[in-house]
Amino acid sequence: MEDSVQVRCTRCKNVFRDRAKRLQNGYSRQCPSCEIVLFFDEDSHDSNIKRAMRTARRARKELRESEGISARKAAAVPRQYGGRSAANARGTDEADDD
Ligand SMILES: [Zn+2]
Repeated sequence: MEDSVQVRCTRCKNVFRDRAKRLQNGYSRQCPSCEIVLFFDEDSHDSNIKRAMRTARRARKELRESEGISARKAAAVPRQYGGRSAANARGTDEADDD
């Protein structure tokens, strides 16, 4: 499963990869090539950043879905129904004095 996303530096156009889980609004990191700090925001004016955010979002969704499927499989334990216990033993305690 692909969990890293390609990011293209705005300044030097160097392409590097970062984890999809990190690439969320408010995240920032340095370009490994020119060391400019890139700010990741889905409303960024930079189309490179925008595309990376979109790709990361899709990758996270796919990761979540694949995790969800395996989690559901593991939790697929058949429900057991606890049988009814009818408490229908009413004792009549009448003393018959003659
Ligand atoms: Zn750069």
